[in-house]
Amino acid sequence: MTYRIRTGLGQDSHRFLPPESSKPCILAGIIFEDMPGFQANSDGDVVFHAICNAISSVTGVLVLGAIADDLCLKDGITDSEMYLKEALHTLGHRKITHVAISIEAKRPKLKARLLEMRANVARVMNLDIADVGITATSGEGLTDFGCGDGLQCFVIITTEEKR
Ligand SMILES: [Zn+2]
Repeated sequence: MTYRIRTGLGQDSHRFLPPESSKPCILAGIIFEDMPGFQANSDGDVVFHAICNAISSVTGVLVLGAIADDLCLKDGITDSEMYLKEALHTLGHRKITHVAISIEAKRPKLKARLLEMRANVARVMNLDIADVGITATSGEGLTDFGCGDGLQCFVIITTEEKR
């Protein structure tokens, strides 16, 4: 048996709403208290969106800007976990074996919640927590993300398919 290995790359970013906004701040499906939410039609979950884009880069099937927009604008579904689940359906016989997530942000403070975020990504994607890695950096404040205006996320997924 041989396997065809592919890697997918995805990116996403959103700007924070003003501090008075009551929209919750959600990252990898985890709510961060005392933080404004993101400017987006959906919950603006940058991590789940970047994973969706990484999956699209392997399958060639657009999820954000297509399937997810229909769910959001037509059906009123703003929970990005649902978009990610739709993205997973497009994989067909391909299996995701690893997810690498890199976040650039000044706020919220992520370090103490990385394990929780990994566990939630693993749950949604039906992976072992050991197959989900997350790092976070403020990048010394060199970008608007590192200055706290918003948050950027890059994701690389590894997939295999038998042949
Ligand atoms: Zn997004």
